[in-house]
Amino acid sequence: MATLKIENLQAKVAEDGGETILRGVDLEVASNDIHALMGPNGSGKSTLAKVIAGHPAYEVTGGSVTLELEGDEFDEEMPDDLREWDLLDLEPNERAALGIFLGFQYPAEIEGITMVNFLRTALNAKLEEREELFEEGEEEEEDDEDAGYETSPMEGPADEGEVGVAEFQEILQEKMEVLDMDEKFASRYLNAGFSGGEKKQNEVLQAAILEPEIAVLDEIDSGLDIDRLQDVSNGINALRDEQGTGILQITHYQRILDYVEPDYVHVMLDGKIAKSGGAELAEQLEDDGYDWVREEVYETA
Ligand code: ADP
Ligand code: MG
Ligand code: MG
Repeated sequence: MATLKIENLQAKVAEDGGETILRGVDLEVASNDIHALMGPNGSGKSTLAKVIAGHPAYEVTGGSVTLELEGDEFDEEMPDDLREWDLLDLEPNERAALGIFLGFQYPAEIEGITMVNFLRTALNAKLEEREELFEEGEEEEEDDEDAGYETSPMEGPADEGEVGVAEFQEILQEKMEVLDMDEKFASRYLNAGFSGGEKKQNEVLQAAILEPEIAVLDEIDSGLDIDRLQDVSNGINALRDEQGTGILQITHYQRILDYVEPDYVHVMLDGKIAKSGGAELAEQLEDDGYDWVREEVYETA
């Protein structure tokens, strides 16, 4: 369980005189919740996703992004250092290790690596980085007699070393069953050329394997035919239902929200969240577009 808290986040393109894109974003996404982030082209949605993940093309000029871990592993005696993380202080891979997922593109030039090996490597990298982060935190706390815990908060495979081939096969099989994916998928080579729809399914599979606290899915619905849209949507729902992943679903269109029903809907305009509501807000946007939101915002400003 975790909560991602974004407060007054401001960011610009990371070059001299780079354009300011995010102008004070406030947003909170918790495990188990599905948020839809909508808004016209160029409003800053993808930039927000990339800034959360730590993309070097952007420079944060104000505000904060924190991840608060909760739940059984993170009991009341856990020192704040290990429970509250300033994500802006961390590298992209460290953010991922703490449970932030942003779908990534496969580097097409990698030769001779299968999906299954790629995914196992990604999982082991995450587990190792995560253990390192928690160990670093513990070392800093060593002088504190009242720290109140003795063992590492991370238990399971990472403590005994990495997830082996056989064990990973089992994990993969289980996840692919949940996602209703064809087993052959995993034995394919990364450079074999996945279709657009298959790439989107890969993204969901990655998130199922890595079990993030929060998954940011940027236009995962774009260019999908109706069958594939349904498959991908079922997968996203399974991420939430089976592993409690909180979803930040970025989309330009209302269509996917018929299949992945959001608990919250936000509209981004000019680098800010201009309006938030429930699922009914998405329907209103579908019918009436974004102009009325713009008018509302600038009338009251
Ligand atoms: P959205 O995803 O809502 O369509 P983006 O976040 O992609 O919007 O882009 C918001 C604005 O910032 C656009 O005007 C875009 O051209 C600009 N922008 C985003 N990234 C960069 C970049 N790396 N360099 C220059 N301009 C950028
Ligand atoms: Mg975008
Ligand atoms: Mg490290």
